[in-house]
Amino acid sequence: MKKIGLFGGTFNPIHRGHLRVAKQVKQGFGLDQVILIPAALPPHKMPGGVVAAENRLQMILLAIEDTAGLGVSDVELKRTGLSYTIDTVQHFKNTLAGNAQIFLIMGLDAVLEIDSWKSYDKLLEKIAFIIVNRPLGGHSDNTGWKRLEKYLISRISPDYTFHAFQSCYRRPGCQPIHVCQIDALDVSSTRIREMIKKDRPIDRLVPPKVAQYIISKGLYS
Ligand code: ATP
Repeated sequence: MKKIGLFGGTFNPIHRGHLRVAKQVKQGFGLDQVILIPAALPPHKMPGGVVAAENRLQMILLAIEDTAGLGVSDVELKRTGLSYTIDTVQHFKNTLAGNAQIFLIMGLDAVLEIDSWKSYDKLLEKIAFIIVNRPLGGHSDNTGWKRLEKYLISRISPDYTFHAFQSCYRRPGCQPIHVCQIDALDVSSTRIREMIKKDRPIDRLVPPKVAQYIISKGLYS
C-alpha cells in the first residue's frame, strides 16, 4: 500500500524550510509522495499580505519541479470559501479509496493551535499526524516537544500517552501523532516578506527559481 503525506500551508511564499520538511519526512517515514496543498484563504491568518492563489501555486511548482516524490494539489484552491483541513483529508480519503495510507504533516507551531481548527477531534480520529520540530522563538527542540506533550494532555485529551518505540502519541479511538525530528531551518514566509520589503536578498531562503519568480512578478514589495 502506498504511503502519502499531505502537507498544507499558506506557502506565501514557499521556502527552503517547507522543502526541508517535505524531503526529510518523506525519507524518514518511507513515504511514496508528499503532496503540498496551498490553502485558499488561511483561516488563521490575516488575509492582508497573501498573494493570489495562482502565484503561490506557481511558486510551489517551481520549487518542486526537480525533486522526485513531491507533488502539489490545488484541491483547496478550487473549493469556494475558507480551506479546512478536515474537508481536504476527506477529499483524499475519498479519491484514494483506501488504497493508500495517508499522513498529515505539520510543524510544531501549527499543531499547538489545533484546538482552534474546525472539527479537530474528527481530524485526530481520521488521520495520522506527523509533527516536525520548528525553531520556536529560540527554544531548544526538547522544549518544543515538551510543550507538545503538555498541550496534547491539557488541551486535547488526558488519554494521550507517549510510545517511545514508535515515537508517537496514542489515544484510544484516534490515529497516532508521530513526532519527527528533522534538521529544521529557521525560516518563515513572514521573514521572507519582510526582507523583500527591505530590499534584502532572499536567495538563501527560497530556491533560485522562486526568487526569480518573486522578482519578475514584483510580489511582496
Ligand atoms: P508565515 O510566516 O506566513 O506564517 P510559515 O513560514 O509559517 O508562514 P506556512 O505556509 O504557514 O509557512 O506553513 C505551512 C506548514 O509548514 C505549517 O505546518 C508550518 O508549521 C510548517 N513550517 C513552515 N516553516 C517551517 C520550518 N522552517 N520548519 C518546520 N516547519 C515549518
